[in-house]
Amino acid sequence: MNRPPLRVLIAAPRGFCAGVDRAIQIVELALERFGVPVYVRHEIVHNRFVLDRLRLMGAIFVDELHEVPDDRPVVFSAHGVPKSVPANAQHRGLTYVDATCPLVSKVHRQAERLIADGLHILFIGHAGHPEVIGTFGQVPEGSITLVETVEDARSVVVGDPDRLAFLTQTTLSVDDTAAIVDALKTRFPNIRAPRSEDICYATSNRQAAVKAIAPDCDKMLVIGAPNSSNSLRLAEVAERLNVPARLIERAANIDWDWLGRPKVLGVTAGASAPELLVREVIDALRTRFDVTEEIADHSPERMVFKLPRELVA
Ligand code: SF4
Repeated sequence: MNRPPLRVLIAAPRGFCAGVDRAIQIVELALERFGVPVYVRHEIVHNRFVLDRLRLMGAIFVDELHEVPDDRPVVFSAHGVPKSVPANAQHRGLTYVDATCPLVSKVHRQAERLIADGLHILFIGHAGHPEVIGTFGQVPEGSITLVETVEDARSVVVGDPDRLAFLTQTTLSVDDTAAIVDALKTRFPNIRAPRSEDICYATSNRQAAVKAIAPDCDKMLVIGAPNSSNSLRLAEVAERLNVPARLIERAANIDWDWLGRPKVLGVTAGASAPELLVREVIDALRTRFDVTEEIADHSPERMVFKLPRELVA
């Protein structure tokens, strides 16, 4: 069969970040250390493939702490948890391991410091995302307000406009967040900014990698879960550069009619999507196209986070 040629531009960096890698290792080490089953509160990372693999190894995912039996350990997800969750675990005498990404924990500590300084926090993020719920749960109720859009920034009602600070979710769109921050700074010139960017290195690097290949691409496939914030942002970044993009969980989700016959296809993966799924997508493309693969030039990421002492000691 004569297959049409297809140049596949693979974005780099893509896929697993240091926080996801660490969270998965924590569940694996907890299974080794404590035996099966190990309970995990919420999806450890937003990827069904990763969860299924850990389930097979003996992890049980639950929504809330009360579903964890008293005699089994529980791991908290990479997105972070409200303070009440470890407090309840402690109260019940549960063994728990916190897999919150250190970059999310950094935002938690900043939130606590700002409240101690007597400031009200405007938090830029997406309602209902576990990271937002976790960060709100670090500070007293009423001391933090969610701002999702530029319109929210223009209309949010605050007490003292000179006693404000802002923080952000780690997995936001770099461009959208800059516009929201501008709107906040215009309205509240004395608002305190975080000491360093809260959007994490992995989120901004993956968005920059999409921007770098987009001008050469006719279409883009983003591999990631539909509830993965950073993966959704990658598809948005491509679309805004006029490159039609689809977020897919794996090869089986490729919509071949939508894909059509592009000459150049961009491929990337969100921070919780394993490289195996990228290979699976490229193998599926090879069944219909004469594929030439190119990995875009990039500076490799070297970030590695330490594992919790209780698992490596
Ligand atoms: S996306 Fe960023 S904040 Fe989230 S786990 Fe990865 S490194 Fe941590």
